[in-house]
Amino acid sequence: MKLCFATNNVNKLEEIQALLGDQFELLTLNDIGCHTDIPEPYETIPENSRAKAEYVWENYRINCFADDTGLEVFSLNYEPGVRSARYAGPQRNSEDNIDLLLTNLASQNNREARFITVITLVLDGAYHQFEGIVEGNIILEKRGTNGFGYDPVFVPEGFDRTFAEMTLSEKSALSHRGRAFANLVGYLKQL
Ligand code: IMP
Repeated sequence: MKLCFATNNVNKLEEIQALLGDQFELLTLNDIGCHTDIPEPYETIPENSRAKAEYVWENYRINCFADDTGLEVFSLNYEPGVRSARYAGPQRNSEDNIDLLLTNLASQNNREARFITVITLVLDGAYHQFEGIVEGNIILEKRGTNGFGYDPVFVPEGFDRTFAEMTLSEKSALSHRGRAFANLVGYLKQL
């Protein structure tokens, strides 16, 4: 079955293609001729995830799934949440985002946080959502060079290394996205 993954992120594509096997042929947004920066106008992760899948279905009539992720820090009233990518401004720069996060957390004792990913799948016009969550803590300064985004300051619960100090396969086995993908793959494989 052909299925569009509403992304142009090659790392994410490889990660999920490996989980899915060759029963599904994944297409990127570029592959289907979609070169738009799909709007994410909502205040919640599930709504923005659905908006991306819906955009593809409404405009291209191709079965599709889309993911949306946010980092929620409890003592910051669940910020940056839906604004995780552009927390420090529209330049979407991870270093700036981390610096702002550490500054905002400087006076807080509670540094608990979680990543949430919601995947929306649209199959022949029917919508399904899959969630993955990982809880952990934001540390005081960056550690590690792997991964992306907030990885250098996030230590998942039960571990003493940041996501940026883990290999991709270690991270995927316990990450928000890995868990949401596993739920999606479980559903697709029983179709
Ligand atoms: P997206 O919805 O996957 O584009 O994620 C939105 C933003 O959340 C990204 O720009 C990153 O700042 C952050 N983010 C998402 N996934 C991760 C992750 O696995 N590690 C660290 N940061 C992430």
